[in-house]
Amino acid sequence: MDKAKENLKKLLERISERTSHLAGYPCNSIFDYSEIFPFLKFPVNNIGDPYQSSNYQINSHELEREVISTFCDLTKADKENTWGYVTNGGTEGNLYGMYLARELYPSGIVYYSEETHYSATKIMRLLQIRSMMMRTLPNGEIDYDDLKETIRIHRDCPPLIFANIGTTMKGAVDNIEKIKKIMKDLSIKQFYIHADAALSGFILPFVSRPQPFDFSAGIDSISISGHKMIGSPIPCGIVLAKKGNVNRIARSVEYVGSLDTTLTGSRNGITPIFLWYALQKMGIDGMKEQIATCMETADYTIKELKKIGLKAWRNENSITVVFPRPGESVVKNWQLAVENENAHIITMPHITPKIIDYLIKDILSEGNLSDEKNNYNHG
Ligand SMILES: *Cc1c(COP(=O)(O)O)cnc(C)c1O
Repeated sequence: MDKAKENLKKLLERISERTSHLAGYPCNSIFDYSEIFPFLKFPVNNIGDPYQSSNYQINSHELEREVISTFCDLTKADKENTWGYVTNGGTEGNLYGMYLARELYPSGIVYYSEETHYSATKIMRLLQIRSMMMRTLPNGEIDYDDLKETIRIHRDCPPLIFANIGTTMKGAVDNIEKIKKIMKDLSIKQFYIHADAALSGFILPFVSRPQPFDFSAGIDSISISGHKMIGSPIPCGIVLAKKGNVNRIARSVEYVGSLDTTLTGSRNGITPIFLWYALQKMGIDGMKEQIATCMETADYTIKELKKIGLKAWRNENSITVVFPRPGESVVKNWQLAVENENAHIITMPHITPKIIDYLIKDILSEGNLSDEKNNYNHG
């Protein structure tokens, strides 16, 4: 038992220390859910559809429905005709969205960009949907000309668009209006648009001029991660989809006395409580304020990186600051996400200007800032 205690202590120390150096992955580490700890004594399980009663009653469905309702507001969804649930994270929401799309249009082809999150290709394989990868523009948005030409060639198959609402590496937002115009220009009536809004789905609702990304812009479903911008000790997310589409594939199961609408059977009943609590505590004004602060820190980061001669930039309404990949020790110590010649810092709520100063000091002392690296950086 002493050994076990020792191991737990070591793990806690490591996790705590590493959380203080989290600059590249978008997991907000500022939260206090201690009021919810008493719920951890119970076998809470949200099995089944959050809108149906279930034989298993130790659940938090009522709070889950409130969370979904708030996200309907944030994404301008028509509540009467929208359904959703709290997922394990962004990936499950994307899998759900593409599953719906495939069930509706079995002969469809998925179009996604080369900067799409790595989980998308796995999802297409799991679902065995035909898919085509599009080029991207230098800022990370899908190449609309490539998209239009490819859809034109395959116009007999309904396009299923996997749209990036904030790419992982550059925070780029695929323009839903331009995508819809392509459908119009090609006279395509049957298509589906899923929005992968893992991080930006909780940023764009709070900025003054968001890119079109939500149900009012014409999406059919959206997936947002809960542990990213909102923050949670347990990964989670939200998926929303049009009720009419969901009902076409719903199935009732006697064993749980509910509709089998969700991807998994047993579902986390604690994370909906976390999300509900966070939304209650922050309120819309609090969320707006938090996002504004993150934007300011992003601008500060760009300014300071430029001061030391690095070409740093960000997309509009994104808190992902892209800059030339520094040396490995900085990447490792600060848990920076890197891809080829680029690295990024995501100025989540726990990243303060002071932390940026420390990080930049580390970059300088590593002295790995060759001109060559700078030249490769797009932007
Ligand atoms: C993080 C991320 C995902 C995956 O979300 P998880 O919550 O980690 O499953 C999907 N798409 C994008 C763009 C992401 O940034």
